[in-house]
Amino acid sequence: MSEERLEIGSTYVLKKEDFNTLLSRLTEKGYETIGAKVENETLVYDRISTLEDFPQGYVSEQEAGHFRLTKTNHERYFDYIPGAHSWKQFLFPSRTELFTLRKNDNWQTELPSEEQPKYAFIGVRGCELSAIQIQDDIFMRDDFTDPIYAKRRQNLFILSINCLHPANACFCTSMQTGPKAGAGFDLSLTELDDVFLLEVGSEMGRLILNGMPLEAASAFVLQAAQKGLERAARQMTRELDTSDLPELLTLNLNHPHWHEIAERCLSCGSCTQVCPTCFCWDTVDTSDVLGKETKRERVWDSCFNIGYSYQAGGNTRPTIHSRYRQWLSHKLGTWVEQNGTLGCVGCGRCIVWCPAGIDLTEEVPVFREDKKA
Ligand code: SF4
Ligand code: SF4
Repeated sequence: MSEERLEIGSTYVLKKEDFNTLLSRLTEKGYETIGAKVENETLVYDRISTLEDFPQGYVSEQEAGHFRLTKTNHERYFDYIPGAHSWKQFLFPSRTELFTLRKNDNWQTELPSEEQPKYAFIGVRGCELSAIQIQDDIFMRDDFTDPIYAKRRQNLFILSINCLHPANACFCTSMQTGPKAGAGFDLSLTELDDVFLLEVGSEMGRLILNGMPLEAASAFVLQAAQKGLERAARQMTRELDTSDLPELLTLNLNHPHWHEIAERCLSCGSCTQVCPTCFCWDTVDTSDVLGKETKRERVWDSCFNIGYSYQAGGNTRPTIHSRYRQWLSHKLGTWVEQNGTLGCVGCGRCIVWCPAGIDLTEEVPVFREDKKA
């Protein structure tokens, strides 16, 4: 199929044996291709170079406080649901050098290179695409743009994947972020048993496909993909009623249930580290023992850290209940006022990776039930 006939918004069939050509095209254009792979019995996002690097045949068992990879006998590559890793580690790295001061005769400032990597994310779920867009609103505002994030984001190629096999912790349908990826991808895949259905989302996506051996999508293939998406939406077991969220949480700031949650919460911050939308950071200075070099780095912070709310000689959130309340009422409440969207995309990571198995889809209805009473 020639380049002239490819159109943005159109779908084509890509044979699985031709997927590696697509990856090679991205590499030739200077992209570092990143995707999911199995490491230490879990899933990580890391550099991939062929389709065989993906976790073929694996599915992820996910429940509150529980994640396990299971090998099945099917041969699909994208049936897994991601683990603790999210794409934010590449656009907003957990540790970034801002500058180094070095003392020779005088103190000299060394700035890191302004060059930023050029990533192609392969296998971005609908919820994850929405999370990237939420972080875009945080880091690329009209009045302030973070130069590190912005450069990485502008360089980015996104190949999204529509979810046909959600895990038990997913609730993207409630948040309207999946199972089909929304706008914003360069290319989007749906994996069927024998072939991929490929949708073109951008000019760059169209360019990458230039001259690739694609076929027109038959009605049968289109229907199979659509039915798979409908089945995935029906399989979603968790849900979150978002209809009254900011008001609900604001009205319940003094509810005793915050204290009940705090009896289980360890204030470990795992939920904020795995959340693809959490964006808080701190600056940390480290010096060598001779006092000749000091490095300042930006590192991920968490509203569960005791020092996070330290102001003017005192901690404004000294208790676990106040820190959990801050986290949840920001995600599902004040985030809307600040950014125009909720701060949650329904990926389920905070549920799965909470060592206490705290599940926001179970906690929020407690406030609503009391409101009805
Ligand atoms: S709050 Fe939890 S479910 Fe929502 S986006 Fe963050 S990690 Fe995912
Ligand atoms: S809710 Fe869970 S993951 Fe989050 S701080 Fe509390 S114990 Fe840790």
